[in-house]
Amino acid sequence: MADYQEIVAQLRTAFPAPVSDRVHDAYFVFSFLRALDQVDALKSAAPMLGSPVTLDYDSARQKRVDDTPSTLEAVTAQLVHYLSGMFIWGHPRAQINVVPSPTIPSIIGGLLPSIYNPNLVSEESSRQVSLAEVEAIAMTAALVGYDPQQADGVFTFGGTGTLLYGAKLGLEKAVPDARRRGLHQPAVMLCSDRAHYACHTVANWLGLGEDNLITVPTTDDNQMIVSELGTRLREAISSGRRIACIVATMGTTDAFGLDDLAGIVRLRDELVAEFDLDYTPHVHADAVIGWAWSVFNDYDFERNPLAFRHRTVRALAGAARRIRHLGLADSIGIDYHKTGFAPYISSAVLLKDGRDFERLTRREEETPYIFQSGSRHPGRYTLETTRAGSGPLAAIANLQLFGRQGLQALLGHLVTMAEELREHLEGHSATTVLNGDNFGPVTLFRVYPDGVDTFSMPAQERTDPACRETLLEHNEYNRRLFELIQADALEGRGVVISLTDCYRMTDYGEPINALKSYILSPFSDTQHVNSVLESIWQARRKLNDGS
Ligand SMILES: *Cc1c(COP(=O)(O)O)cnc(C)c1O
Repeated sequence: MADYQEIVAQLRTAFPAPVSDRVHDAYFVFSFLRALDQVDALKSAAPMLGSPVTLDYDSARQKRVDDTPSTLEAVTAQLVHYLSGMFIWGHPRAQINVVPSPTIPSIIGGLLPSIYNPNLVSEESSRQVSLAEVEAIAMTAALVGYDPQQADGVFTFGGTGTLLYGAKLGLEKAVPDARRRGLHQPAVMLCSDRAHYACHTVANWLGLGEDNLITVPTTDDNQMIVSELGTRLREAISSGRRIACIVATMGTTDAFGLDDLAGIVRLRDELVAEFDLDYTPHVHADAVIGWAWSVFNDYDFERNPLAFRHRTVRALAGAARRIRHLGLADSIGIDYHKTGFAPYISSAVLLKDGRDFERLTRREEETPYIFQSGSRHPGRYTLETTRAGSGPLAAIANLQLFGRQGLQALLGHLVTMAEELREHLEGHSATTVLNGDNFGPVTLFRVYPDGVDTFSMPAQERTDPACRETLLEHNEYNRRLFELIQADALEGRGVVISLTDCYRMTDYGEPINALKSYILSPFSDTQHVNSVLESIWQARRKLNDGS
């Protein structure tokens, strides 16, 4: 058996050299390069690394820690192996979900901190990376229409985390000192019925209770009906409950629905006066998807300097019309790792008034370990203690790389591709676009068998209980179509799209499913749009022949 000194000597080679050592640096970089080479060997025409893998959790549970150390090379090869079977989200033949391909600078932004482990808990442990967080927050605050002098924010563990911050701040306003006394008054949270399930998570984890999350009905274009919100707010307030948070979804996950934030804030202000409330209910904008469209706040749609197509201009302006009011929200959730093309996790919550953080600040005697020097100590009010520097550096990387114009061009391109797809789907008698009035890169559509009148069927299915059987048949039809398209795409033909089991509920309580194309690859082009269409027609022929 090796003595411990030999083992330590060997393990040292697996750490980056603490002092400049070109030879060892080369070994470090080369090891990474070799890993990338091994990943490259997994690529084919299909939008997937390696091939589809059946996941074997039984053998996963048999894994144990070895007695003896391994080598960097062996470990790396193992790590690469885990990527086999992963979709390549950035592949133009992948139109699956709101998962971007990260840019190279943002990947480097994510990697550098993982070498040096800055900890954003305090400036003592993160130094200039703490500045990077402040810079990213200021840049984004200005972009979405906040006053960066007043606003503040922190990076946190994903969109759900941003929503948790928004609701927690709102709860402290509505039920003062809930942090110490607990939930001593009944409180509710409101969002649309198309909002992300993260709202349930937050109601649960904050101790509000999921039953105290009130969901407000939406229009056919997936936005909250503000008058219905009014009714529910009045009911809640009249019955003695406090309004912990109103969540406006600015870009729903499936359909890119955009709530009328300005209308919601106006309603909130009216109710404060009407009921003479001693607090102002907090409005949180869940803009984790929609925030990026704020680059169009100052775009001149008349002159259209970037020369977008007509349909694209209309779609971008349609989204900008809602997004430009983001600055009215009391807090905003941002996912750079969705429409900002950053690696996971890069999410920030922005507060319109940074002083709101004081409602969460711990007493100094509660945090004796840290915060001895310096001025910025987010760890005094963040939920997490350790926070990585990767989120802010990845965000900064892309904000700098793109600039406003770059993001305008990129989003404009994706929307152009989505609009091309829609143009075809709308033009064909067997297909219907379901979210035609939502103007993002995501298209939800249904395909129907021969002989169905696709002009009247979608509305009929949605509203007429006598259509239940037909609806379910069509759900099944779309599911089988999806499976055929999927199988083809994994063979390297066609495009991987996805299926959403419940685009909306019908008025009589059944889920309507839909095929979904989420175009987020910068490499998407007309040929890939055509490829989606070809896959649909081909799968449809197969289904028609088979039945
Ligand atoms: C994705 C998403 C979330 C959750 O964000 P994560 O970053 O996945 O935690 C919340 N709200 C909306 C609208 C989303 O699309």
